[in-house]
Amino acid sequence: MQILSTLPDLSAQAERWRTEGQRIALVPTMGYFHEGHLALMRHARSLAHRVVVSRFINPTQFGPAEDLAAYPRDAGRDIALAGAEGVDALFQPAAEAMYAPDHATWVDVPALSSVLCGVSRPTHFRGVCTVVLKLFHLARPHVAVFGEKDWQQLAVIRRMARDLNVDVDIVGHPIVRESDGLAMSSRNAYLSAEERAQAPGIYRGLLAMAHRVRQGERDAAALLAGLREDLKRDVPSGEPDYLSIVHPDTLQNLTRLDDAALVAVAVRLGRARLIDNLRLLPL
Ligand code: AMP
Repeated sequence: MQILSTLPDLSAQAERWRTEGQRIALVPTMGYFHEGHLALMRHARSLAHRVVVSRFINPTQFGPAEDLAAYPRDAGRDIALAGAEGVDALFQPAAEAMYAPDHATWVDVPALSSVLCGVSRPTHFRGVCTVVLKLFHLARPHVAVFGEKDWQQLAVIRRMARDLNVDVDIVGHPIVRESDGLAMSSRNAYLSAEERAQAPGIYRGLLAMAHRVRQGERDAAALLAGLREDLKRDVPSGEPDYLSIVHPDTLQNLTRLDDAALVAVAVRLGRARLIDNLRLLPL
């Protein structure tokens, strides 16, 4: 596996592969790999001749009061894990290389970025879109793989790619969970033992909601009230940031569930802010 840390090195490698007719898949990450990241890499492997993984803690997607400095990192372990997955190139640039001191250009999708996580993280998706578009220009992928754990991120990037005619297939990958149902996340490392024991209650709450939908409940307010009760009981240390039932593509709140619906939640638990989601309809 090549380890690339400069932008010209990545561009040159991408250019060589393109010239040889090789199909390139990109998996953007912030590192501290877990099984969720590795599943994306494996999926990317199945879609292309060459897999590029970026490992970059993107400063522009963190708010001023967020965990940029504390975000977990372990370069040696990440390199070993990506190498074992057959990744062709690991791109890990310095922040100063990615952003000029007078960087002034942003890619924003306000209609999808201002809801759900965007309410408490107003500049987050602007940072995500900007860095992802930069990575697309550098790695020149034919396909890019993103996790459905960050459903809103996937929806925002799909819209950006469509609206700006970005010639990259955006592929989603299902959420990878711990055996007790907790969605894997680098931020799970922030949880105390007591918080970790409560955290699977979030997914249990989503499953209980899906069960109520299967039994015929279609009223979003009733379903959300049920979820709020379940979380109060099973995740007593958790503080919901939002609990929402939305259309999976537009991310607009639904009052009644009819053709397509997704429940998306963010819960603050100790130092961690955990997100999760589950498709409710179609059944
Ligand atoms: P991150 O390093 O947290 O920015 O995540 C990098 C990519 O991995 C994103 O596309 C995430 O959606 C995806 N990802 C993170 N956790 C999971 C998970 N548990 N299951 C599936 N994809 C995930």
